[in-house]
Amino acid sequence: MIKITRKCPKAPCRGRISTAVDKAGPTEVACPVCGEPVKFEVPADLAPANGTMVGTAQSTGMVKRCACCPGREFFIRKDFPQRLGLVMVVIFGVIATYFYAYERIGMTFATLGSLVVIDAIIFFFVGKVTVCYRCRAEYRGVAYNPDHEGFDLATSEKY
Ligand SMILES: [Zn+2]
Ligand SMILES: [Zn+2]
Repeated sequence: MIKITRKCPKAPCRGRISTAVDKAGPTEVACPVCGEPVKFEVPADLAPANGTMVGTAQSTGMVKRCACCPGREFFIRKDFPQRLGLVMVVIFGVIATYFYAYERIGMTFATLGSLVVIDAIIFFFVGKVTVCYRCRAEYRGVAYNPDHEGFDLATSEKY
């Protein structure tokens, strides 16, 4: 199942509109915040193949063209809220500092070590999300496109 999430184009509304994609072509979804109808133009590459190829890599669509704008460049990031990651680092940092202050060096390293382990577990389990550079629409459940890399500032500045 492919899921596309995009921001509402109607300023100043910042609603997020999600839609599940099962076929190519245009769809319209109303913004949950302001009710504005928002268009998704699903390219044929992205739509899952019609049953015939189920079970193979071909059954999942691949992002080549954005469904929300003319963008053709995408980056891949972890599907994990960055703010939550930051909060975790701060909490573990405070605990480690506390142990350090009481000269519990072993516990200090244990705390920092467990943060590394948790980070690795998260990295292993969370999915990847493909994001459009131009409009920041997010694509989940799509096949991995080898042309896409992590976020690149130089590419981002073109838009
Ligand atoms: Zn809206
Ligand atoms: Zn886009």
